[in-house]
Amino acid sequence: MDVVDALEQFWNSLLDFTSQFIIPDWGGLIGLLPVFLLIGVLGPLLSLLLLAHLIYFIRKPRAPLAEPPGPVRAPIDADGRPEFPLGEPFCPRDGLIYPPNTARCDTCREGLSVRCPKCGVGRAAAIDTCGNCGLILKVRPQNQVVRATQPPPGGRAIA
Ligand SMILES: [Zn+2]
Ligand SMILES: [Zn+2]
Repeated sequence: MDVVDALEQFWNSLLDFTSQFIIPDWGGLIGLLPVFLLIGVLGPLLSLLLLAHLIYFIRKPRAPLAEPPGPVRAPIDADGRPEFPLGEPFCPRDGLIYPPNTARCDTCREGLSVRCPKCGVGRAAAIDTCGNCGLILKVRPQNQVVRATQPPPGGRAIA
């Protein structure tokens, strides 16, 4: 029977030994609670932040495409003077046609002009109502699309 006793004792000591690992030390766990909170709360927050950064950097190269088109050099007529289309802001000094809703020239910083599409009278582009005929210049979205497909004739680098 000595063998059985020895086995039992061995088994008990084995249980005691393993219980140290299986039964959690609650006091120690509560002491570690701030660490778990840190991992559980800051971890997801940090990974979300990382993800947001990742998405930002992935989307960043596409941003210039979403920007409004830059100024286009106005075509020169037979007399050597730039021709400006009606209803679009332009800089007479630089001969540039700007997209709708632009009021200032990027090159000379002067206020842009616009010619009324109805009566052809010029005014400052910042004013949306014609002083001559009272036509309010509304920006048509397709205007911008048409302009965006036209390459700048002068091959001017868009800053
Ligand atoms: Zn200008
Ligand atoms: Zn007018």
